[in-house]
Amino acid sequence: MSSFDFDLFVIGGGSGGVRAARMAAQRGARVALAETLGQDGLGGTCVNVGCIPKKLYSYAAHYADGFHESAGYGWEGTAPVLNWATLKANRAREISRLNGVYGNLLRGAGVTVLNGFARIDGEHAITVATLNTDGSPGHQNFSAKHILIATGGTPHVPHFVGREHVITSNEVFDLEPFPQRLLVVGGGYIACEFASIFNGLGSTVTQLYRGEQVLRGFDDEIRHFVAAEMLKSGVDLRLNAGVVDIRKTAEGLRVELEDGGVVTADAVLYATGRVPNVAGLGLDAVGVAQGAQGEVIVNAHYQTNVPSIYAVGDVTNRVQLTPVALGEAMVVVDRLFGPAAGKAPRDMSYEFIPTAVFTHPNIGTVGYSETQAREQFGQVTIFRSEFKALKHTLSGSSERTLMKLVVDAASDRVVGLHMVGAEAGEIVQGFAVAMKAGATKAVFDSTIGIHPTAAEEFVTMREPVSR
Ligand code: FAD
Ligand code: NDP
Repeated sequence: MSSFDFDLFVIGGGSGGVRAARMAAQRGARVALAETLGQDGLGGTCVNVGCIPKKLYSYAAHYADGFHESAGYGWEGTAPVLNWATLKANRAREISRLNGVYGNLLRGAGVTVLNGFARIDGEHAITVATLNTDGSPGHQNFSAKHILIATGGTPHVPHFVGREHVITSNEVFDLEPFPQRLLVVGGGYIACEFASIFNGLGSTVTQLYRGEQVLRGFDDEIRHFVAAEMLKSGVDLRLNAGVVDIRKTAEGLRVELEDGGVVTADAVLYATGRVPNVAGLGLDAVGVAQGAQGEVIVNAHYQTNVPSIYAVGDVTNRVQLTPVALGEAMVVVDRLFGPAAGKAPRDMSYEFIPTAVFTHPNIGTVGYSETQAREQFGQVTIFRSEFKALKHTLSGSSERTLMKLVVDAASDRVVGLHMVGAEAGEIVQGFAVAMKAGATKAVFDSTIGIHPTAAEEFVTMREPVSR
């Protein structure tokens, strides 16, 4: 038995922290997990103010299209109206249920769950700010053989006059009242998703992006295609646009734009990136190396320069996705406490990470964009299909679908697969397995399609559009 209070002390009860704590405890380690927000924070960003409530609101927004489009299929009657309070309450109930599930999973695995803000005081020392029984502030000190930092990230809003009037994705889920006019600033995942969602829910949405096209880093054709679809669906997407200042007036928030224009909105959502959550963690004092944004620097095993301290997830500012945080957590657990019986220790590869952007329509993508593939492989062959989905032949919707394959000409391996269209995330997940396994275009060609689906296009594209 070691002289430490715990074998592993996890700071942060989000995607990475909960997974690491639970799996380490299941391997027999003595584990504690501290979460600032207590039971209500278990699950972290993803569960509370990220993936899950966002997807629930995206489903809510899709109903609007469904009601409208059903007329073409013979459904008659007036479309229902949104009760925002009901949506918010039902979402909150579901999130609370999930918080409870996470708590039960942790306690069931034998993890000691501590409610409070944790600070690292030494290579093996942690202090958790807690409340005394009389409600006064107190603290508890612990020692641990290993410490895992899994404190995630927090929204970053640039400085400008009127910054105090804006909200971030943390506040958007509980806006009161419903924003009839919403201004969204940013062109990344969050900005595009919420522009689509609130447009679907019935807001008049203006989106400002500072560059030439939204979703930098994605395949260029996908970026242009999804931007066109968002515009068509009603989002007033303005490129090369930015905010000068924001003032509160009787008519709403008056936003002056760089081009001299003015937008008046009920709410302004800034989705201009996220920064690592490291404030007050004590990293300086203990000498943990950090990058320019404050991110914790780790090696291939997620170990910091202080050997007893590890970090995973958004706090390392690499790929900010829940499944990535989960994968990283598993690498740490396998390394510190051994792999699951009969399994090899896990590794984490950052190549071929599939991802979806829940715009309307969705983007699903895995592997290299056309530009990245040309840089990496030299000669590439591009296959592309754009069409109106069968559903919309009767629905009256003008929404179109785009599918694209990027093939390394030398090896015939499919190195990029991209889609804009309904359920793109669901479709791309399966193809990601094939691509991890190294599937060639010949394998795609020999795969029988499922008819009639949109997904079958990925195995029936025969003629390249460019080499
Ligand atoms: P987090 O989940 O952020 O957890 C960190 C936890 O640490 C928090 O609960 C915090 O309260 C706690 N904490 C911080 N400091 C301390 C401290 N000192 N002491 C104790 N506790 C502390 N990813 C996807 O894969 N798919 C999506 O659809 C998706 N949608 C998203 C939508 C939005 C609006 C946002 C903001 C993010 C979304 N993400 C999505 C990203 C995903 O949520 C993150 O990548 C993921 O949550 C990162 O997990 P994590 O464990 O690193 O940190
Ligand atoms: P992103 O980094 O994706 O996008 C930030 C956007 O804000 C970019 O368009 C960026 O422009 C712009 N921007 C940055 N600084 C400024 C500024 N000062 N003024 C104006 N615009 C600015 O961050 P998000 O906040 O959208 O999301 C954070 C991360 O969370 C994502 O990268 C993703 O990993 C994860 N996430 C995943 C989701 C999913 O899986 N579906 C959904 C939501 C979030 P530019 O490109 O020019 O730098």
